[in-house]
Amino acid sequence: MLEEGTKLLMANGQIKDVGKLDVGEMVMCEDGSSAKVTSVARDVQTTYQILQKTKHRANEGEAAEKDPLRREIHHRLGFQCSVAHELALRTSMKPSVENCFKRNHFKVCWKNLEDTLTLDGRIIKIPKTHHKDFPMTPEGQLAAKGFLDEKENSTGRFAEYNVQVRDLDILEAQVRVNSFLRFNPLLEGNGVLSEFLTGQKGLNSPAVLTMAWLLGLWIGDGTTKEPEISVDSHDTGLMEGLIERGKIWGLYPEYKDEQIPLRAKHVKLFYGSECDGHRRNRHLRKNNPFWNCVVNLKFKRELDGEKQIPSFMWTEDLEVREAFLAGLIDSDGYVSKRKNPLDSFKVSIQTVYPSIMGGIVHITRSLGMPVTVTTRSAKTATIVGRTVSCHFTYDCHLAGRTPMQKVLSYCRSGHKVKTEPEYVERSPIYFGFNEEKRGSNNVVGVTTNSDKRILLDNKIVIHACGDHCKAEQPKLTTTRCLKYCIACPRKGVRYFYRDWSGRHLICGRCYGRYKFSGYRCLHCQYVPESREIKRAKLRGEELGTSPDGTTVSGLICGKCNGILKFDEIRGPRKVTTTTDISSDIPASNILSDISVTV
Ligand SMILES: [Zn+2]
Ligand SMILES: [Zn+2]
Ligand SMILES: [Zn+2]
Repeated sequence: MLEEGTKLLMANGQIKDVGKLDVGEMVMCEDGSSAKVTSVARDVQTTYQILQKTKHRANEGEAAEKDPLRREIHHRLGFQCSVAHELALRTSMKPSVENCFKRNHFKVCWKNLEDTLTLDGRIIKIPKTHHKDFPMTPEGQLAAKGFLDEKENSTGRFAEYNVQVRDLDILEAQVRVNSFLRFNPLLEGNGVLSEFLTGQKGLNSPAVLTMAWLLGLWIGDGTTKEPEISVDSHDTGLMEGLIERGKIWGLYPEYKDEQIPLRAKHVKLFYGSECDGHRRNRHLRKNNPFWNCVVNLKFKRELDGEKQIPSFMWTEDLEVREAFLAGLIDSDGYVSKRKNPLDSFKVSIQTVYPSIMGGIVHITRSLGMPVTVTTRSAKTATIVGRTVSCHFTYDCHLAGRTPMQKVLSYCRSGHKVKTEPEYVERSPIYFGFNEEKRGSNNVVGVTTNSDKRILLDNKIVIHACGDHCKAEQPKLTTTRCLKYCIACPRKGVRYFYRDWSGRHLICGRCYGRYKFSGYRCLHCQYVPESREIKRAKLRGEELGTSPDGTTVSGLICGKCNGILKFDEIRGPRKVTTTTDISSDIPASNILSDISVTV
């Protein structure tokens, strides 16, 4: 069952709270088709928070410490469901070869989907790992390679499987970290813009797409009080595009220069006849089709007149979303090409409005591209003698291959334009996740007349409910192997290293810093960054009392004002002396044709 407040994507593109759902309504399935809701049940059950794993460092480092606004991770993917709700997961089945020099073996590892008995007697199908050893000889290597190929051909690249939240613990750590949820691109749309402009849904003519592009451009660089967009005059491509595309709607861009012409031109979009010269035959706001869209479709918020991306845009028709995003990129985006892979593009869009940031995230994901949001603190800077105050800013980072190229092909601004791809490959985006208990909550069970999976508002693919999650179910296992880093709030099942106490309880990130600097706090266990150590060194050593009562002298921890200890040898000294193992390793080039995982 899903926690009340979970938002579902309806078949008509609208978003609805699962708590307000009625029998007979149509929800959207993952393939864009629709399914009828056949039952809605209510209960109170233990729920879990399913949350995307990210590389955001929102809770560490100086940034978050100084600016509390930066602690939040925006638009992290996730949802809340009951302990017996089923998750649709995928895991890679690619077999691998490891070389264990210790036992002089090649170890081939592979996975199988197998029936497994749970503690309460249910049989579930989950991936399990197996391995087989081969001697470290040329013949053994050949046999290992043959075996690897055989396994690769028999298992396929990926396995899709379903597992209830309470059974996640049964997965081996290796399988758990390689199991992913997904969100799907949205191929259908609600056709609101087309209906507003033409009276008909889904009529996405060049004129309608042009309007979507203009709206994106205005959201990026427009003025809220009139149809005016500031355009860089050096960007001739964009200026030409504006003139050319404006014509379709009878819009004529015009600007007046200041006494000293500025590089940024404030271009007004007039509506009316171009050459007749009579001022009274053209209008800025009256009858202006562009301004009608801005006002009536609420791109300008009624409440305070601020710019916003109305939520119908999140689920607009695919082409409309693309053209709108292209407009936004033309005005506020920065495009760079990634080196690897070559056909991949990275775009960042800056905005100070949370609503626009949210809209960008929803639209980008709906096109089948990953997006993350980082933040910048508000600050005042002096640029060429003038004091400029910068607002708190959201940086939206979009990435994608052909879906992004398709968007960029609609751009008009200088270096941002790309050729249209011959074929757009839009596939689901997979992400790793953690689960965390939330306690007792109101939950809603939804069943449909189809066995297809359904979509949440953030396009995550989830299962509708089944008999197994109707009632509260016991969770008999506790999370195995879950470790808590002793130096930071991070927890996980993998990537923990040997710490100063000899246990393996320090996370990879803290371990990296510790290995590098050797400093750790005696009081709060924090491992400082090199920048923090530099600052502590400037402050100098002081005397303090260590937790065991002895007086120690050392640098001061920036976090808790405790004493930092410097460990010359990081981690306990190894007992074994170094032996020359290089002679045991076969010539390294014979390994080169086997994929090696370390
Ligand atoms: Zn359920
Ligand atoms: Zn840590
Ligand atoms: Zn400390």
